[in-house]
Amino acid sequence: MRVLFLFLDGVGLGGDDPKVNPLASTPMPHLEALLDGRKLIARSAPVETARATLVALDACLGVAGLPQSATGQTVLLTGRNVPREIGTHYGPKPNPAVAEYLRNGNLFRTLSQAGRRAALLNAYPQGYFDAISSGRRLYSAVPLAVTSAGLPLKTTADLFAGQALSADFTGAGWRERLNLPDAPLLSPRQAGARMAHLAGQVDFTFFEYWPSDYAGHGQDMAAARTLLATFDEVLGGLASAWDDEAGLILITSDHGNLEDLSTRGHTANPVPGLVIGAPSLRRSFMSEWRDLTHITPSIVEALSR
Ligand SMILES: [Zn+2]
Repeated sequence: MRVLFLFLDGVGLGGDDPKVNPLASTPMPHLEALLDGRKLIARSAPVETARATLVALDACLGVAGLPQSATGQTVLLTGRNVPREIGTHYGPKPNPAVAEYLRNGNLFRTLSQAGRRAALLNAYPQGYFDAISSGRRLYSAVPLAVTSAGLPLKTTADLFAGQALSADFTGAGWRERLNLPDAPLLSPRQAGARMAHLAGQVDFTFFEYWPSDYAGHGQDMAAARTLLATFDEVLGGLASAWDDEAGLILITSDHGNLEDLSTRGHTANPVPGLVIGAPSLRRSFMSEWRDLTHITPSIVEALSR
């Protein structure tokens, strides 16, 4: 049994309104095939198909205000209702109170201590490590969880060796914005297949996709549609290379944003809990899911068997 956690920042389940919701207007044939023709919008959930189950997960967690990335991701990585415990949604990066939760224990550490192999598939450029060590940059929740667990962050060398993926899936951003013209360039479909391959090497893999939240803040429908079309190709490559009997793919988010481009900020919408894999694996894995606190316990349970 293995789990691949594909984290999409800022993607909620919104309305069926193509004027504000790019998930309602963008053709996503691979996603729709998994959901028997449904789109990733609120009225599609809950649904169970031959390969996938979609439920809506509450991201507000009983706390006033709009959910934010640091607390939302920390809930996903610890199973604790961190915004309720600290009294507020907080983000984008962890403040000392939120960071303390991640340092005191998180999914990566729990799995490592249980002898399970866990990896974050994102590659980080050298400039990122330099900015962290000089104090110019703070870890966001996911790399803080990984490093707190004593696990390495993947590097440029890992990316060049085919052992990591760039945050934009394809590597185009590394070529253009990081001035690394020799960085490997994958098609979105190849990136999905690569993700499946890398997930097959360990028990638990995580990939953090943050451009979805940026696109939501940008409120640019054309850019959002391009991003979703790319993501759908990645998903096609991933799903076709995935062995449903050997493990589960989990796709979820920390809060809504991209699904409502009428507002610049986050939304209070539920987020998708989308799981791909054999029906018997899916049912026991997600039978208790109502909100973001239920993810970590399910992953730990599934990988302890
Ligand atoms: Zn955001």
